Amino acid sequence: MTKILTELEKHLEKVPPMYRGLATRALKGRCGKAGAVKAKCQECVGYEDVSRRVGQCTVWRCPLWRFRPFQKSKALIQDGLSTSTPAPGEGLEE
Ligand code: SF4
Repeated sequence: MTKILTELEKHLEKVPPMYRGLATRALKGRCGKAGAVKAKCQECVGYEDVSRRVGQCTVWRCPLWRFRPFQKSKALIQDGLSTSTPAPGEGLEE
């Protein structure tokens, strides 16, 4: 367990300070699921232009896609009516 904690601390040192608090809480199980999803999405986009890039993420195959933060309207996206974010499978028609 000590090795895991050491590796965890090394990993967190690489997270930009602005995002380190949530990443720490998520990795240590001290936040809710929404916080953990947000932390993962922040990491996924490389901590750059986070709200825009996560909100406009089109990787609908990602298991977190429906739960990602910064979506314009979750109701519209769940109904597949969003104009900015494709619904799962949208654009795959042949
Ligand atoms: S939903 Fe998008 S931004 Fe979030 S982890 Fe998945 S691919 Fe990355």
